[in-house]
Parts: sequence; structure tokens; C-alpha cells
Amino acid sequence: KKLGIALVGLGYYSYGQLGPALLHTKNCYLSGIVTGHPAKAEAWKKQYNIPDKNIYNYETFDNIKDNPDIDIIYVVLPVSMHKEYTIRAAQAGKHVICEKPMALNAKECEEMIAACKKANRLLSIGYRLHFEPHNMEIMRLGQKQIYGKVTAIDTGNGFVYGGTDNSAWRLKKAMAGGGGLMDMGIYSIQGSRYTLGQEPVAVKARQEKTRPEFFNEVDETVYWELEFPGGFVATGKSSYNHNWGYLHVEAEKGKFGLEPAYGYGSVEGYTPAGPMHIPQVIHQAMQMDDFAECVRQNKQSRVPGEEGLKDMKVVDAIYRSLDSGKKEKIV
Ligand code: NAD
Repeated sequence: KKLGIALVGLGYYSYGQLGPALLHTKNCYLSGIVTGHPAKAEAWKKQYNIPDKNIYNYETFDNIKDNPDIDIIYVVLPVSMHKEYTIRAAQAGKHVICEKPMALNAKECEEMIAACKKANRLLSIGYRLHFEPHNMEIMRLGQKQIYGKVTAIDTGNGFVYGGTDNSAWRLKKAMAGGGGLMDMGIYSIQGSRYTLGQEPVAVKARQEKTRPEFFNEVDETVYWELEFPGGFVATGKSSYNHNWGYLHVEAEKGKFGLEPAYGYGSVEGYTPAGPMHIPQVIHQAMQMDDFAECVRQNKQSRVPGEEGLKDMKVVDAIYRSLDSGKKEKIV
């Protein structure tokens, strides 16, 4: 049987990506929704043929525990709400996918992991690129040293924040935790980590602000040097003010990389042998199908909560470095 997924929060990502992707999944389908807006509930109900009994709001959320149509709850809310809804979902007896960045900080991630363990439920982070074949090829080339040892990594991710509403949750520290670093930089951090297959030990960062009217609470553009065991340093950056999206790697026997690297439009890659000829896929469909299969087999996802925690430890250290002006250990 296909497992039922309920999306919590029907904003941009649910509407534009996850809902449509769930029309292409083989192991799971959209069985329910949680929304505070009755008009959205009505539109989704029609579009996806969702029965009334599978439609919840934030007051009725915990009643999902009695609904056998819902196996997995997918938290697609502002970052400050990830911890609460992940924990409530697990306590309702459901497996959980939580969107990136996992939470406001590493401490919250640890609490989420502990709560899901205690409830004996699986937790996964919405890291779609681990199921995207160009990014998977980079992991193989880097980690298996197909072109020899990696000697340099440079990666950046960002977009020009074009909103006119400076009360949006992404610009509020209390709701977003931070700015471009939390939202976009998480991909650059991931890119460096999965190219090497190693965990960084220290980081030094600096930031730049050109539009304080938007970014007075959160970071706009951040640059960092991420140090790995043995002293290798990867450079990375994130921004709400530049359209970046690349991962360039140098190895002993040549260069490989991705550009565009991280978006959910097409991903393009190259190696010393020329362009990668790899088909494009719907990242989110692959990601959700994989998690549904993990639930069936009761096995940990390749992107469990622990993977989100590792990135948040790096993010926390980058913020400490921005404050101190010094290199900070990742702990
Ligand atoms: P969004 O603002 O479009 O949607 C957020 C949803 O949360 C809205 O439906 C809103 O009504 C709801 N919500 C409930 N309570 C709220 C409150 N108190 N304040 C504000 N909104 C509230 O945001 P989004 O772009 O859909 O992002 C949601 C999550 O998905 C974020 O964690 C984001 O980082 C993540 N995301 C991931 C990807 C990816 O590629 N994996 C892409 C985009 C967004």
C-alpha cells in the first residue's frame, strides 16, 4: 500500500513543489493537510481529492494520532515552528519529515531527535539533493576520490531577496533563526560535507550588509572558510542578495562540479571527462518515496535528523564566528 503523507503548512514550498511532486510518487501519496486557512483547505481538497476527515488545522493537529490514513507528517512551516510540530507529530505516533533548516539551532535539533527516538518514530530532513543524481555523482567522485584527492572546494548559494514585505517571517530572527545562511547557506555547507564525506572541525566567517532596511535582524551575505580534519579548507558563501548556486571542486586529476547545483530547476554537472549526461528528476518525489520505503522497512533514512543537526552545528559556529571575529570550533 502507498503510505499517506500529510503536509503541515501550505505555503510556497508545499504548493509549488511538494504537492505536485506527490502526484509522481510511487510509495506514498498526499492523504492529508494541516492549514490555518479554510480557503486553502477547500482548494487543496478539490485539487488533490482529500477527504474532509483528513483535513486538520493547528488546533486539531494532535487528533491526527487517530487517523490511519496518515503515516508520515511533513513539516513545511517557518523554522521556529519546526521543533514543536516535529515533536507533536512523533508524539501522535507518526513518522516525520521536517524541512530544512532543521531548527533554530543545534540544541533544538537534539531535542527533536530525542523526542522521535523516544516515540520510536523515524525522522528525516527535507534534503532533496541526496536523491538528486548529479549531486549523488559529486558525492561519489569526491568521497571515492575518483579524480584523486580533493584539493579545493568553493561553493555558494543565494538569491536576490525581492520581497517588498519586510515583516515576512524569513526576515525575522525569532521565526527564521537567521537569513541567507540558514535558508541558502545550508546547501553550501552540505555541498562541502558531502563532496568530502567528512565532518568539519572549525570555521571562520565574515558578513556583508547592503540592504539593512530588509536585513536588520538577519544576515544578508555571509562568507566562510570551513576547516576539515587534516587542515583542508573549503570556501563557502550564502546570500539573500546574490544569485549564486554552484559547487566547484578541484582534485589532483582535474576539476568537477555543478552549476546550477542546488535549485530544483535543472542541475548541470561537469567532470574532467566533459559534461555530465544525467537525467533530471523530481527531487522531492525521489526524496519522499525513499522515506516511505524507509518507513516500510523501519530503517533510518540517509538524511536523518542527525544530518540536519550536523549542519546546524556548523551554522551555530558560523554565527559565533561572525560575533567574535575569530575562527570558532564546531562542537
Ligand atoms: P511560506 O512562507 O511560503 O509558507 C509557510 C507556511 O506556514 C504558510 O502556509 C503559512 O500560512 C504557514 N504558517 C503557519 N503558521 C505561521 C506563522 N505563525 N507565521 C508564518 N507562517 C505560518 O514558506 P516556504 O517557502 O513554504 O517555506 C517553508 C519551509 O520550507 C521552510 O523551512 C523553508 O526553508 C522550507 N523550504 C525548503 C525548500 C527546499 O528546497 N527543500 C524550498 C523552499 C522552502
